[in-house]
Amino acid sequence: MTTSPVIITVAITGAVPKKADSPAVPTQPTEQIESTHEAYEAGASLVHIHVRNKDESSSSDAALFAEVQAGVRKHCPGMIVQFSTGGRGRSQNERASSLVHRPDMASLATGSVNFATQIYENTPQLIDGMATTMRDLGVKPEIEVFDLAMLYNAKALVDRGLVKPPAHVQFVLGIPNALPARRQVLDFLLSELKDIMPDATWTAAGVGRHQLEVNRWCMELGGHVRTGLEDNLRFDKTRLAKSNAELVARVADICGEYGRRPATRSEARQILGLAAAP
Ligand code: ZN
Repeated sequence: MTTSPVIITVAITGAVPKKADSPAVPTQPTEQIESTHEAYEAGASLVHIHVRNKDESSSSDAALFAEVQAGVRKHCPGMIVQFSTGGRGRSQNERASSLVHRPDMASLATGSVNFATQIYENTPQLIDGMATTMRDLGVKPEIEVFDLAMLYNAKALVDRGLVKPPAHVQFVLGIPNALPARRQVLDFLLSELKDIMPDATWTAAGVGRHQLEVNRWCMELGGHVRTGLEDNLRFDKTRLAKSNAELVARVADICGEYGRRPATRSEARQILGLAAAP
């Protein structure tokens, strides 16, 4: 059992509305900043952000990202800001457009994968381009591993100098058509990670009903955790989560069962090799 601090990531808002998007999901920048602040007070040290752009004619995704980041930096000192660079049919330029605002981190999927009803397409050229942009802007990637090959692709990016080591890797478990949320799968992924990138830090996200179970595996195995309404709208079988903060508090509460505690913002920055808060 480890006593190391746990970085709690809160993924406050998904890319696209879910079937029954809960009113608890923050979609406007002011709501997103408020929800992040509540999650920060509950113990989150990293926020993963998508923006929902209703009117692309008046404001760009990049402008919305900048607005949310500015609010988070003001109200949540030291919290690590991570932008999503997810697809939704956008071009590489559109997906990378927010990076000029230099968040601490950004997501980087290192391969393509089927989701429930679509292909999440990340060509080798796009991955190289996004990794290069992040490297040149000093934005640390969170490598998103949705399928096995993506782990080895990440190692190749490190070897080629496109991702600065130590890498930070997130295993995403429980998305239909991608990796299932099975303990043996995580065990295997971790044994491979430790073999090919022993200095890497890691976390895992369990999607939907798997969220809490995967949180527990991560705490037991010495990893970091991700929670939030992007991945899961339910607190338990009987009710919807009230807020991102409620999901963060649940995870913070059970850290002690594994001899761990939530990382402070400065500890989280140190663990991930990030600069002190801007
Ligand atoms: Zn996301």
